[in-house]
Amino acid sequence: MHDYSNIDTSTWLAWDRDHIWHPYASALSAPEMFPVKSASGVEIVLADDRRLVDGMSSWWSAIHGYNHPVLNDAAQRQLADMSHVMFGGLTHAPAATLGKRLVDLTPPPLQRVFISDSGSVAVEVAIKMALQYWIAKGRSAKHRLIALRNGYHGDTFATMAVCDPVNGMHHLFSSVLSQQLFAEAPQTPFGQAASDGDMASVEALLREHHGDVAAVIVEPIVQGAGGMRFYSADYLRRLRALCDRYDVLLIHDEIATGFGRTGKLFACEHADISPDIMCVGKGLTGGYLSLAATLCTEDIAQGICQGEAGVFMHGPTFMGNPLACAIANASIDLLLANDWQGNIQRIEQGLKQGLSPASEIPGVADVRCLGGIGVIEMTEPVTMASIQRRFVDHGVWIRPFGKLIYTMPPYIIDDEQLAFLCREIIAVIREEQAQ
Ligand SMILES: *Cc1c(COP(=O)(O)O)cnc(C)c1O
Repeated sequence: MHDYSNIDTSTWLAWDRDHIWHPYASALSAPEMFPVKSASGVEIVLADDRRLVDGMSSWWSAIHGYNHPVLNDAAQRQLADMSHVMFGGLTHAPAATLGKRLVDLTPPPLQRVFISDSGSVAVEVAIKMALQYWIAKGRSAKHRLIALRNGYHGDTFATMAVCDPVNGMHHLFSSVLSQQLFAEAPQTPFGQAASDGDMASVEALLREHHGDVAAVIVEPIVQGAGGMRFYSADYLRRLRALCDRYDVLLIHDEIATGFGRTGKLFACEHADISPDIMCVGKGLTGGYLSLAATLCTEDIAQGICQGEAGVFMHGPTFMGNPLACAIANASIDLLLANDWQGNIQRIEQGLKQGLSPASEIPGVADVRCLGGIGVIEMTEPVTMASIQRRFVDHGVWIRPFGKLIYTMPPYIIDDEQLAFLCREIIAVIREEQAQ
């Protein structure tokens, strides 16, 4: 057994620096990495015993915080039965239970569930479902996708092709990425009715190209990694109607927004609509293991399988992983057992109150909050190295990108921790601006 405490932290930090890729990192100039020893509740404990209040939920996922006794127990019980068996020809209660839960919790038309290993794969599966559906219908000309500017849907090739064409990786990979169609990002803020002008771009694309378009893909209500933008539920409602009118499928990527983050269990509920295909991930296992799912309507499932292929052509090795499914079931139970909606409202109030003083700091362009998400948008991109260290010195874990300093804390954060988190974020911004 590895006892990591026997290895000097500086030793393995050097191994890490010399051999390990981190997200969006350079192998030439390694950025500072903060070694973590453990995490518990809302706190991340560094190797030198400093404790940080977590404002990121490990990228939207650790909704119940870390080292949760209920999730630990679910993992241990499942380990005693089996960690994994293949899903071809075999099945098990953890996956069947999770499938039933997801069908019951999402809008009624979504009836079939494909359980996969990560968010990007869930989006790949969604795209493949849409394409295979039209191929099965004898309409293979419908093979393109419409996406929104400022969108983010993952880092694999099909998903990169629907990420924002400017801040995504289109330029770099232009020779290999499928050329998709991009509508202007919705401008109408959350809480307002969308204007005809705001619908014009996506409507024009649908009118002109619907004969070759398989699906429109959007992140409902919150555009996450592509800009942390909150937009009108009415826009989504009208987009649903446009997709119906032009016979184009609608894919909702709820990987960031799912499981209560925006104040509804799924963000599409703000608009009272249902997509034809929905992706969930991130918070699905409460941040314990990588797991995602793609749901579709019975009509799409039947349509795909009535085609020439006869089956849906996808089947990852770790599909339906029992350990991850068991933890997901426990995480969903945990969420629904409490007044999660009241709790998200409490966090939204805390974020609004705590972050509002930021709007007076020079260099801050906008402050906005929705559900358990708080965003401070700067006029200029932050200097990552200096601001990251400063956050740690102030006892909080915040990971900004570009002009965006944002937080989506675990739902278990208490009022005092939330006030501390907001206060320290603002203190750090003031210090950075004073430089
Ligand atoms: C994070 C994210 C993904 C990709 O999920 P991974 O698990 O990182 O592959 C896709 N779509 C959205 C909206 C996301 O936030």
